[in-house]
Amino acid sequence: SSLIKNIPLAPADKILGLTSEFNHDQNNKKVNLTVGIYKDAFGKVTPFPSVRQAQNLLNKNHSNSKYNNLSYLPITGCKDFETNVTNFLFNDSINKPTLIEDNRISFIQTLSGTGAISIASTFITKFLSNEIIIPNYSWANHSNILQKNGFKNNINHYPYYDPITGKLSINKWKQYLRSTHSSKSTMPRSILLHASCHNPTGVDPTLKQWEEIIDIIHELKMIPIIDMAYQGLETGNLFQDCQLLKLCLDESRYPKGWKNGLFLCQSFAKNMGLYGERVGSLSIVLPPGQEEGSPESVMKDKINSQLKRIVRGMYSSPPGYGSKIANIILSEPDLKLRWIKDVKFMVDRLNQVRLMLYERLNWNDLINNELIMGCLFH
Ligand code: PLP
Repeated sequence: SSLIKNIPLAPADKILGLTSEFNHDQNNKKVNLTVGIYKDAFGKVTPFPSVRQAQNLLNKNHSNSKYNNLSYLPITGCKDFETNVTNFLFNDSINKPTLIEDNRISFIQTLSGTGAISIASTFITKFLSNEIIIPNYSWANHSNILQKNGFKNNINHYPYYDPITGKLSINKWKQYLRSTHSSKSTMPRSILLHASCHNPTGVDPTLKQWEEIIDIIHELKMIPIIDMAYQGLETGNLFQDCQLLKLCLDESRYPKGWKNGLFLCQSFAKNMGLYGERVGSLSIVLPPGQEEGSPESVMKDKINSQLKRIVRGMYSSPPGYGSKIANIILSEPDLKLRWIKDVKFMVDRLNQVRLMLYERLNWNDLINNELIMGCLFH
């Protein structure tokens, strides 16, 4: 018998499968709320004004080899991208420039947020941890990515959202963390946290609630993986949306930092509208003591060497065009300001559209769908 004939049909991706159903639906009142892509009033995905300007600069400077270079990028991305993105994330966003100065960030450019989570997952399961907990509910692709990149079936769900009240299950979450902790376990557990705009519930902890949760996670020596796919889309302010990251890296609260590193998976897909260009990053924030010449400082070199090895075997090197756009925006002060305004404009308009949708929905049809009800109320 033929092996190739016996390959079963894989189930459709939960989100992209819905898109395909949408495309087949003949109803002319249909609205696609599945994949998170920002569209203008004409239903088009148009570049943000800041991105358009950066594209023009890139075209204008075509004789400048820095911009007009179609060669491979280095395995872990360009140095410029590392400088600009770490400056944006750790200096502009959370005001912790010493993390960069003290050599405490191991950084790679990734294939957007999905790529960052894949590399983090491969790295963590190879060296640090073999179990991860993710929220119930979570982005449908999380367990898929984590399963395929080392965690296999060791993925569990922590209570997060109560569909009846439409609120955060903070007490159940705290209880779960403690009751499932085993002091005998030789390896720490990993935990995935959504930085802002929790997908799919839209419910985020308040700062006070994050403090309670992060204190426990830190005490239990877990490894945090922060998924920051929506920086800026919660409040409209790129910097205000970083309270989770800022808290985790608050040295007055956690002076010894994160013993086994803190993993930040970040994406410019949504907040620069660079979806298809696959621009993002993975930063591993190391504990203090990485200053040049200190015994710990070799830790970063070792980690970088392993990240390089993983990337080389997975896709060799990241794509160039989108990261050049991000580089221009992040390094030209006027363009950066324009971008900050673009994000605010997008979020204001999204909120207006959401309100209009809410007002026009047929509530009798929706009343039995607890998750949709929760998302719309929050
Ligand atoms: N994390 C969450 C919660 C998401 O919703 C998404 C995209 O929808 C991603 C990560 C990754 O997106 P991308 O790979 O396009 O950056």
